[in-house]
Amino acid sequence: MSRWDAWLGQRADLRAERGTERFDPVLRVSRPGSASRDPLDLASNDYLGLSRDERVVTAAKEALDRYGASATASRLVTGTLPVHRDLEAALCRLTGATSALAFSTGYAANLGVLTALSGRGAEILLDAHAHASLHDAARMSRVPYATFAHNDPDALAAELAARPDRRVVVAVESIYSVLGDAAPVQALVEVCHAHGALLVVDEAHGIGVAGHGRGLVHELDLVGTRDLVVTMTLSKALGSQGGAVLGSTAVRDHLVNTARSFIFDTGLAPAAAAAACAAADVVDGDPTLAAAVRANARTVAAICGIEPAAGAVQSIPMRSPESAVAAALDLRAHGVLVGCFRPPSVPDGVSRLRVTARADLAGEDLFQAARLVARTVATHEAPSRPDTVEGP
Ligand code: PMP
Repeated sequence: MSRWDAWLGQRADLRAERGTERFDPVLRVSRPGSASRDPLDLASNDYLGLSRDERVVTAAKEALDRYGASATASRLVTGTLPVHRDLEAALCRLTGATSALAFSTGYAANLGVLTALSGRGAEILLDAHAHASLHDAARMSRVPYATFAHNDPDALAAELAARPDRRVVVAVESIYSVLGDAAPVQALVEVCHAHGALLVVDEAHGIGVAGHGRGLVHELDLVGTRDLVVTMTLSKALGSQGGAVLGSTAVRDHLVNTARSFIFDTGLAPAAAAAACAAADVVDGDPTLAAAVRANARTVAAICGIEPAAGAVQSIPMRSPESAVAAALDLRAHGVLVGCFRPPSVPDGVSRLRVTARADLAGEDLFQAARLVARTVATHEAPSRPDTVEGP
C-alpha cells in the first residue's frame, strides 16, 4: 500500500466515524405530468422545468449538429462560436444588462469576477451565507477577506468604514440558495456607493424567478447601476449548464483580459450555450413562468406553515440533522424527493429540508405534495414519532 492509499484510507475511516460520508447516487426522479412512478423531483434547481422543454432541447440538438460536441478551445483561441455571442445577447435582452460574458459554469463566473476585480491592494467582504463558490473565489483571490452578518447593511457599513483606504469588493447572493431569503440589494448598493466599494450580486437563484424572470436586480430597477456586477448560472432556472457575468462593457473587457477561469478554460459547450440561449428567450417572452413558480412557493409555504421564501426554494428548519435525514428519506419513500441540508453545508448549523416549488407543478399535484411534506415534517419534529407517514 502506498502512503497515499494509507492516507486515503484514514480519511475514509474518519468520515465513517463522524458519519459525514457523502454519496452521488443515481436517483430516479419523475417530473410533474409524467407517468413514471419514481419520486417527484422537488429537489433539483430546474425551477421552471426548462431542462426538458422542447424549445430548449431542440436548440441544443441543432447546436450539436451545427458546431459539434465541444467548443474545442478556450474562448481566446478558437473557442468563441456564434452561439456564445447569441447567448450573451439573449442574456442582455433578458436581464437588461449592457454586456454579458459566458463562462463554463456559475462557479467559474464567480471565481473569475472576484479574482479579476480584486488583486493587489484590494479586500473582499462576503455575506456570511454567500455560496461556497464565492468563498472559494475570495480565497483564490489571494487578498484579505472577511464576512459580514447575513443580509445586514449596517454590519457591512461598519466593515467598510474600518477599511477607508481599501478597494473593497463586496459579494452577496440575490436570493439565498439554502435559506431562500432575498438580499436587501438596494440598501447594500447604497452602502457600497457611500464607501466606494464594488458590489457583486450572484443571481444564481434570482434569474428566472424574481423580477418576472429577469432577476432581483431588475425587479429593484438597479440594472446599469454603477459599480454593480451581476453573476449568474445557466444551470438552474435556465435548465442548461454554464454561467455568466453581467455588467458594463468595461467590466466585460477586463474579465476577457484577466479572469483566469475564463482565459484558461475551454469555452462553454455549444449545446449548453444554445440551450441556455433558448431558455433565456423563453423566460423573456413568458413572465407567467416566474409568476407560477412564486405562486407555487407561496402555496407550499402556506401548507407547511412557514414564511414564504423570496424565490423558488422553501427552506424548512429541522430540529436535528437526524430528523432532517429521516424526514427526507420518509418523503422519498412516499414519492417526493426534497433536498436535505445539514452541517457543514449550512453555515448557521440549522439542518433543513429544501423544497423546490417548481413552475410546472400545479393543482392537486402541488397540494398533495405540499401536504405530504407538511405531514412528514410534523411527524419527524414531534417528540415521539411513528416510523412512517401515510402516502399522498
Ligand atoms: N452561486 C450559487 C448561489 C449557487 O447556488 C451555485 C450552484 N449551486 C453556483 C453559484 C454555481 O453555479 P454552477 O452550478 O453553474 O457552477
